[in-house]
This record gives sequence, C-alpha cells and structure tokens, in this order.
Amino acid sequence: MQGTHHIPLLFYVLALLALVYFAYNLRLLFTVRIGKEEKYRRVRPIESLLNALTFGVGQRKVLSRRFTYASVMHFCLGWGFIELVFATTVDFFVTRGWFASYLPTKDTAWFASLNDLGGLLLLVGILMALFRRAFSKPEPLPQDSFRGRGNLLGDTGILLFLLLLVLGGFLSEAARLAVEQPGTAAYSFIGWPLSGLASYSAWASVERTLWWGHAITSLLFIAILPLTKMFHSVAVIVNVALTDVKSLGLVRPMHVSALMEDPEADLDDVSLGAHQASEFTWKQLLDSVSCTECARCTTVCPAHATGRPLSPMKLITDIRHDLYARTIRKQDEPEELIGGRIKTAELWSCTSCGACTEACPVLIDHVPTFTDMRRYLVLSEGEPPEQAMEALEGMTNRGNPWGLPASDRLKWASEASLELPLMADKKKADVLYWVGCAGAYDPRNQEVARAFVKILQHAGVDFAVLGEEETCTGDSARRLGEEYLFETLAMQNIETLKQYEFETIVTPCPHCMQTLGTEYKDFDGDFRVQHHSQFIGELMKAGKLEVDASINGKVTFHDPCYLGRYEGEYEAPRDLIKAAVGGSSLVEMEYNRKASFCCGAGGGNMWYDMEEEDRMNLARVRQAAATGAGTVATACSFCMIMMDDAVKVEGKEDSLQVKDVAELVADTL
Ligand code: SF4
Ligand code: SF4
Repeated sequence: MQGTHHIPLLFYVLALLALVYFAYNLRLLFTVRIGKEEKYRRVRPIESLLNALTFGVGQRKVLSRRFTYASVMHFCLGWGFIELVFATTVDFFVTRGWFASYLPTKDTAWFASLNDLGGLLLLVGILMALFRRAFSKPEPLPQDSFRGRGNLLGDTGILLFLLLLVLGGFLSEAARLAVEQPGTAAYSFIGWPLSGLASYSAWASVERTLWWGHAITSLLFIAILPLTKMFHSVAVIVNVALTDVKSLGLVRPMHVSALMEDPEADLDDVSLGAHQASEFTWKQLLDSVSCTECARCTTVCPAHATGRPLSPMKLITDIRHDLYARTIRKQDEPEELIGGRIKTAELWSCTSCGACTEACPVLIDHVPTFTDMRRYLVLSEGEPPEQAMEALEGMTNRGNPWGLPASDRLKWASEASLELPLMADKKKADVLYWVGCAGAYDPRNQEVARAFVKILQHAGVDFAVLGEEETCTGDSARRLGEEYLFETLAMQNIETLKQYEFETIVTPCPHCMQTLGTEYKDFDGDFRVQHHSQFIGELMKAGKLEVDASINGKVTFHDPCYLGRYEGEYEAPRDLIKAAVGGSSLVEMEYNRKASFCCGAGGGNMWYDMEEEDRMNLARVRQAAATGAGTVATACSFCMIMMDDAVKVEGKEDSLQVKDVAELVADTL
C-alpha cells in the first residue's frame, strides 16, 4: 500500500479503530481454551520461534515437496501478503523515531521494487485461486457447509476483496509516482509504467481519492480479517509456534486402566475419547482453527483416492464447526459431532498412514485427533467395526489378532528345524529378535522370519527370541481406539522385556517398532529398537555380512508408512536392495519416500473391510507394476500381506513377486 508524505491524522484514528476491532475478533483464537490440557507437551521456546519463522512466516512446507498448481498459488498468496504487510507497516506506522532512519522509505530503490513484487505475487496468487474456483474446481475444496465460523464474504468474496486491494494499491502508487516523480520511480516496475497511461493532470485530480480509497479498503481488510477465511494467516503462526514437530503423529496415553481401576472415578460421568470440542485438547482445537482449507491433506489421502468416505480436511474443519457452535454461537444443543457431522465410516476409513500430516503446510496433527474420536466410539459407545471384533478378541484372549495359541508362536521355526535360543533360557543376549504376530502366524511373514534368522546365524549374532512370552504389541488395538487393551498389552510386554538383558530389540515390523520403541516410553518402557533393515545394514557395514549383488532384475520399493513417515527411515531398506541387486536395478515408484501410498492395512484396517471404489493395496501394486520391476520389495509385515494379496487379485503372479528386503539379502547368502 502506498501513501503520500503527509499522512492525515484521520487515517491514524481509523487505523486505531481497525486494529481494535481486529484484536477484538482475535477472541476466536481463545475459544480453544475449552479444550483439555496437553499433558505431554514440551515447551521449547527456540524451536517455537523457529517454527513460527520457517513454517509460519516462511511457509517452509508450501513448496517443499513438489511444484503443484496449489503450492505455487499458496506461495504467491502467502509471500505476497507477507511482503505487503511489511511494506504497509513501514510506510504508515514506522515513520518516526530513531529506528526510522534505518528503514527504507517508499522511494528507496530496492524497497520500491520489493513492494511491486509483493503486489505482483499477490495478484498472481489471487488470479490463480479465482481461476481454480471458477473453472478447475478440484473436488476436495471445501464447501461452505464445512464452515464453523461466519465466513464473512465467502471464499470467492474475500479473493475479490483482495483483488480490489491489490489493484487499488497499484493505482494509488501510479498516481503518487506521476505526481511526485521521485528519482527512483522506475524501480516501481508496475506502478511506474502504469503511471504513463494517463496525463499528469489526470493522475493529480484523482490521486487523493485513490489514496483514501486504498487506505480505507486496507483498514477494512485488517478489521474484518479474523472473520474471513484469511484468519488462518494469524492462527497458523500461533499454531506452528506451539507445535512439537518431533511428536507429530504420536498417539498419547489416556491411562484408561488407571481410571477404570480407580474406585473414586465415576465412569458414568466420564467420556472416554473425544466426541465434542471440549473433549479434544486445546492444541487439537487450535489445529482445527488454523486449517487453511487448502485440501492438500485430502488430495494425498489414499482413502480418499480409493473412494472411501474420508476427507481429513473435512474432519478437521468439522471439529472447528463444533468448537464455534459451542463458544462463539453459544448453541445449547449443537448438532452431534460424531454420528452427526462426522459419520463413523469416515473415522474407520483412515489407515493412520500419516500422509495428510506430512502434506499439511501448517503442521496439523490429524492422526492422534482421529484416534481420539475412535477411542470415543470404542470405549464410550462400544462400537468398533464389527469385523475387527474378532482381532480384538484374539488380542484379548490369546495375545495376538490371529487368535491362535501362544504355544504355536515358534511353529514357523520348529517346522523348518530351526532351534532358536529363548530369552527365558539365556536371560541375556545382544539382540532380542521381536518376531511379531505376523511373523509368528502368517505363512508369508513366516518365510521372512526364517530369512532373517538365516542372516542372524550367518553373521554370528548373539540373539534370542521371547517365544511364547511374546504377545501383540497392541498396535492394532491402539489404532482401533481400544486403548484399554493396548495399555494392558503394553504393560504386560514391558514387564516381560524388563526381566532380560539385551542391547537392542530388532523387529521386521515397523508397527511393532513404533509401539515398542516410541509409544512404550510413555509407560516407562525405554528400549532401543531397530528395524531389521537397519540392523542388517549395520552388520554389512561392520563386515559381518557380505552380500553380493547377485540377484537379477529390476526391483521397486514400497515404503511402509510406519517405517518412513513415522520412523523417518527411507534409506536403510534401499541400501539392502542396492546391495542385493545392484544400485541401477532399483527403480522408484512415483509415490515414494515421504509421499508413499499406503498399502491399506494400518490403523487397524488389516482387520476389517470398508466400502470403497478401489482397494489401496491393488492401487499400490498397479503403481509398482507400472515401474516395469519384476519385484516389489517391502519392509513391513502388514505391507507384505497386503501386497502379496494384491498381486494375486490383480493376476500378476507371473510378472511381479513381493519380497521383504531381508529375503533379498538372505537369497544372496
Ligand atoms: S492418515 Fe492417511 S488415511 Fe488417514 S486421513 Fe490421513 S492421509 Fe487419509
Ligand atoms: S489440514 Fe492442513 S493440509 Fe488439510 S486443509 Fe487444513 S491446512 Fe490444508
């Protein structure tokens, strides 16, 4: 926004009113106070500041992944907006005081260019956004029914208002340059050519009117900003500053067993899980308030892509709707959140793959929030998906979702005449090999377990297994919202593990890895846990395992969500593939590493079916086949089951085999 050298006092009076109204409307941010406390939050002021500057102001994630239409549009809108806020502040509000001598004036050459660049970026962003709304209409973009607050001016209205603001700024600038003719005018690379379109007298006659028009539009914009969609520009900065980036995706305990065993607790009065705004934490509510409705999460959601009734953006904004209904609009009986705005099928459609959180530019943490709603369905309402009941019963009664006897846990080894050392006998070993329920009971994963034992024995590793003492880590129970069962299994496993001495737990299953290594910490179970791909890599580096690149053919790798997005491990399994088949034989699918496409088993989905147009595992196998690879390698027990099944359903057994990375290595020995 440009002005004259003498800014009238009336402007400052109006500006004060606009700022007061702006501050008053910021009360929307304080609605999150109805949320519950965050028991596990760690405050790190330096990290908060860096988050605010990088993810908030700097929009670090907006362009970090790939140049899409939406990312370029948001980049232009965001940076254009930031630059103009800076320019306006300097122009109008920092004109006096000693520090003013250190600041540029509007006729400083670089500042003049920067202002026009900001305006241009904003103009491009606005036009792209208007074009998208008018013509391309991407399906996941929100409809007004998603809204919780009064969406003043609507989505298109606020864009048109911004357009008026930018065009008014350029016209006002052109008039000032024509009238004042500063020596640096040519640096205003838009305003200056524009000023040549009319005569001096024409510009002089409208200069004051244009200035006041632009000033009033700008102040009006500031005043109503919190009531419009642009409120997120403020909320986002607060939200990213308060986000613990390292804990994104981490589900936290409810300590439901302690509650259930507390004789003082009145369970009729307690809602377990979250089914209305006040039952989420304040940070979960702040997430909902900060959602920019950019739809990136929904665009990358594999459940959405395969036709399940799930849009993570909708769920997040539904929570905001409930929050404002109960606070700003003070409705006595707002529409039910779960079972009303949010259908249970939406919640059960999620595989907890974390793609939404990975894509979200403002660090919204979807999965723990969705898990809290599942907890409500299961713990308060007793309504898990019907098909999942069998797996939950198996975990409850026999310690594994297959519901098979504990005495069969090592059948896969005894049937192959493998004598495995037991922790109960040895008491102490370098490595505790955590086989996992899939390795113990699923025929395809039993082959993986045998391959891993071959590697351990070949490298002379001192290891032992728990055998009958091992029970399910509780991963599926937790994702399904059955927190009581999860806690029971977790505490039982921790007690077992604490009896023995070992340096590292090694597991082939990233779900076990996340649960044992990260989530058990909240229950006083602090263990060093490695994925088998990491451990095998270390054996190779230590010279204990020599692997020749003796396997032929192209291999592609399916990144398991819990190994990649949750544990941040992308290279260890690839290193094993390169060692076994040679670097040039590894080909990548389009969706790889952080952008991997879920196999469909996570979040407890392994144990029930959803209505869908396509199936995630089938879609993923088609993506693998499209690379021309003859092998799709993976590194997760659930992914193995899903991919193996998909190859058969797609009739690709002759052209595509599914192998765990440990099997590829073992085949070379
Ligand atoms: S976790 Fe995955 S499946 Fe669930 S909403 Fe996010 S992207 Fe979709
Ligand atoms: S949750 Fe994040 S990615 Fe999804 S719409 Fe909101 S801001 Fe965009």
